[in-house]
Amino acid sequence: MNFPDVALSGLRYDDSMKSISILFARGARRVTGSNFLVEAKNGEVTTRILIDCGLAQGERFCESANREIFSYDPATIDIVLFTHAHADHIGLFPKLVKNGFTGRAFATAPTKALIPIMLEDSVKIIALEAKRCNDEPPYAIEDAIRAVEYIDEATYGKTLEFAPGVTATFHNAGHILGSATILLDIFGKKILFTGDLGRVPAALVPDREVPADVEYLITESVYGNKTHSSLEESEQALLSAVKVIIGSQGTLLIPAFSLERTQIILASLDKAITNGVIPEVAVFMDSPLAAKVTDVYRKHPEFLRADIRTRLLGGDDPFSFPSLKVSVHPDESDAIDRHPGPKIIIAGAGMSHGGRIRRHEAKYLPQKSTVLLLVGYQVPGSLGRRLKDGARTVNIDGVEVKARATILSTDGFSAHADRDDLMTFAENVNPKHVFVILGETESATFLAQRIAGFLNIPVDVPREGETYEIPIV
Ligand SMILES: [Zn+2]
Repeated sequence: MNFPDVALSGLRYDDSMKSISILFARGARRVTGSNFLVEAKNGEVTTRILIDCGLAQGERFCESANREIFSYDPATIDIVLFTHAHADHIGLFPKLVKNGFTGRAFATAPTKALIPIMLEDSVKIIALEAKRCNDEPPYAIEDAIRAVEYIDEATYGKTLEFAPGVTATFHNAGHILGSATILLDIFGKKILFTGDLGRVPAALVPDREVPADVEYLITESVYGNKTHSSLEESEQALLSAVKVIIGSQGTLLIPAFSLERTQIILASLDKAITNGVIPEVAVFMDSPLAAKVTDVYRKHPEFLRADIRTRLLGGDDPFSFPSLKVSVHPDESDAIDRHPGPKIIIAGAGMSHGGRIRRHEAKYLPQKSTVLLLVGYQVPGSLGRRLKDGARTVNIDGVEVKARATILSTDGFSAHADRDDLMTFAENVNPKHVFVILGETESATFLAQRIAGFLNIPVDVPREGETYEIPIV
């Protein structure tokens, strides 16, 4: 390199030695598998920062993306920053460690507390996937245990410095407990990764913040082309279903997403029972994962919305009520059957592709007095999706089950920003350039066109494996 020429060109000597690039490794034109590599070069010194290291979750639950080698060398990664604890943002971190990562990792206090719980579940998911694909799982529980040792705590609003001129600040994303957007400041360039963004108002956590002076916005687009019902509409759907099964002495089945959505549903039931809108109906939460996750919510009241926090600190647990029974051991699942109706059973997994909900579905779907309430996205091919699409005979673990139950679905319990929430966030941030990620192509391009049209700025929808250079001057 000819240093005198650079100096003569009018550039400052040290700026000519700097560069910033972003590799969209995974999670581009795809909802899951969040994984982005930012490289900050300053002469001989390079800082490599990963944003998230998530599981890819595919349609057939045989996801080869999780077993492919990383598109970078894990041993060269200095820093990993986690936006939040959903598996599609943290679930491949043990593989990164297994494949040579020895740097530092940061997450907010609730995310740090949730990661071991969620990884324990991810280990089971990838083992099941590997079995279905007739392949080796990408990591084992020992790798997960080793991985969590690397994680240090980050605080909202407190800047972490990794190298001269290379910093990161976590801000509340309003998505789930402890969720964060991550603002990188690299040589004066401000780059914001949204992770998953919450809707406004958020059900349980404070509303998302809007960081100032962002130049590059790298935004999720999971629901870039869809709008959700309001939380109130979904609460009404839930309470109507409860009233139906009280009338029929039947069972309300809710396949649960364990992190955030289950807690939103528990808080909705608690509020309705406390206010006398519904009587004290028996509720069984048959999910050890959801039980552990809910305990983390109780331990981090400062990360909850003010009204929920006040209830919790005042001794009225928003996630519990006298008629709630939490089953942790499998044999307690049988005791639920012996309980006469009416009753509500909340059990994982949310799309009924595994977990304890399947045995309850096998037992209760044939009964006309049963209502199945689907509260989240059902991927094509899943049992939940087949039921949602009207299948009246389904195969559950080798047994033909006639579904005579009423099947309902509602999307207002979602902790995700919808099309309008995402657009509002982009408008409020007011960046100079946007990259749209973490959404299917259709959803991402729809949001990209809208942002480009409204803000009149360049917007890209990168593909996995593409690298963008951020100009320094
Ligand atoms: Zn999420």
